[in-house]
Parts: sequence; C-alpha cells; structure tokens
Amino acid sequence: MKIIMLGAPGAGKGTQAKMIAEKYGVPHVSTGDIFRSNIKGGTELGKLAKSYMDQGQLVPDDVTIQMLLDRISQDDCAKGYILDGFPRTIPQAESLTKALDDRREMIDYAIDVDVPDEAIVNRMSGRRACVGCGATYHIVYNAPKTENICDVCGEKLILRDDDKPETVQKRLSVYHEQTQPLIDYYNNEGILVSVDGTKDLKDVFADIVAMLEA
Ligand code: ADP
Ligand code: AMP
Repeated sequence: MKIIMLGAPGAGKGTQAKMIAEKYGVPHVSTGDIFRSNIKGGTELGKLAKSYMDQGQLVPDDVTIQMLLDRISQDDCAKGYILDGFPRTIPQAESLTKALDDRREMIDYAIDVDVPDEAIVNRMSGRRACVGCGATYHIVYNAPKTENICDVCGEKLILRDDDKPETVQKRLSVYHEQTQPLIDYYNNEGILVSVDGTKDLKDVFADIVAMLEA
C-alpha cells in the first residue's frame, strides 16, 4: 500500500496518516517530522530546513527530494508507506513518479483531505506537538488526557513556531501557489480521491477506510 496525503497545512494529513499507518502496518513517512528531528539533532540539514520552515516557506526541492527518496528506499518501506507532506511541489511529484517508474512501482492513492482556509487557522492555533515523540493533539478536537502532556511518551506539548497565525497565513498562500496544483496532477494520473476533512476525525478516518476497502 503506497499512499500520498494531500491537503493544506492543518487539514489533518498527519492525524489520518498515523491512523492509516497503524491500521495497515506500514510506516508513516512525514517530511516535516524528518526535518524537525534534524533540527532537534542540530544537523546541517536541520539548520538549513529551519531557516525555511520558520518563514513558512518550503525547503528547497533538491534537498527534500533526495531525503525522501532515501527514506523510502529503506527496508521498512518495502511493503508500502503513507507519505505525509510530500510531494508539495510539481517537481517533487515528478521526481517521485520517475523514481517509482524506474522500480516498476506506483502510488495507489493520493488522498486529498479537503478543509477550507477559514477552518485551518483555528486548527493550527489549537494544535499541540510533543517535543519528545512528535505526536500531535488539538486542545479541543483531540485533547491529550492530561493538559500539555503527551499521552504516548509523557513529554511536554508545545505550539510549533510555524503554527503561529502570521506564519500559518504564509504557509496557506504557499500551499495554494505550489501544492494545490498537485490535485490536478494526481487527478490526471487517475489516483486522486477526496475526503471531507471538516468532519470529526474519526468520521474522516471511516471515510478513508471505506474508500480503501471498497
Ligand atoms: P496536517 O498534518 O495536515 O498539517 P494535523 O493532522 O496535524 O494536520 O491536524 C492539524 C490540527 O487539527 C491538529 O491539532 C489535529 O489534532 C486537528 N485535527 C485533525 N483532524 C481534525 C478533524 N477532522 N477535526 C478537528 N480537528 C482535527
Ligand atoms: P509539516 O509538518 O508537513 O506541516 O511541514 C512543516 C514544514 O516543513 C513545511 O512548512 C515546510 O517548510 C517543510 N516541509 C515539509 N515537507 C516539505 C516538502 N515536501 N517540501 C518542502 N518543504 C517541506
């Protein structure tokens, strides 16, 4: 099973990707998580990525594409993966298609989690991320059992720097300019499916599972 999650920042891609990955036993591959773990580890890649992420900009394609292709070549991805946050540009999508073609492989579905911009700022300002394991919550819609503490690892939850409202507006405009064209790209490939991401997160998941198992 090879799936791409599409959608605006804050649409719920990561939330759904984690649930799909768990149900079907394939890895959740998030380029945002890989960049954040590099930032935490103080690597050169982390320093470079942070300079773009803090501005709400995309990390350059060459760096991002190489990092993602390396990740999906690892053994745990042999049976498939859920890509969350990649591709985000047409050149990223074309590089992925070509790399998969070379191995006679293909993506099964590109799932667009559709949420209007008005709902996004509210989602992002309530998102909390664990500093330890990266798990994400929402203070209203998906609250942790204890306020500001991760259910999974017990570490502290924070508001990501790039989830502050001024950066979210920038990320939304970058999304419309550079990432939304991927909806047409995957529609033309015949693998696009759209789900209504404004529903409760369990209902969004039920719609995705129904589609995958139809
Ligand atoms: P993305 O990975 O697309 O950036 P997330 O999965 O991190 O988005 O979701 C953004 C925020 O919205 C998180 O705080 C998450 O808990 C919350 N969220 C996700 N799906 C829903 C939903 N269907 N309804 C309400 N809140 C949601
Ligand atoms: P995310 O966790 O998916 O919201 O990503 C957080 C940030 O990481 C984005 O705003 C970008 O700056 C960067 N990023 C993540 N994935 C990509 C990608 N595929 N291409 C370029 N930048 C990315």
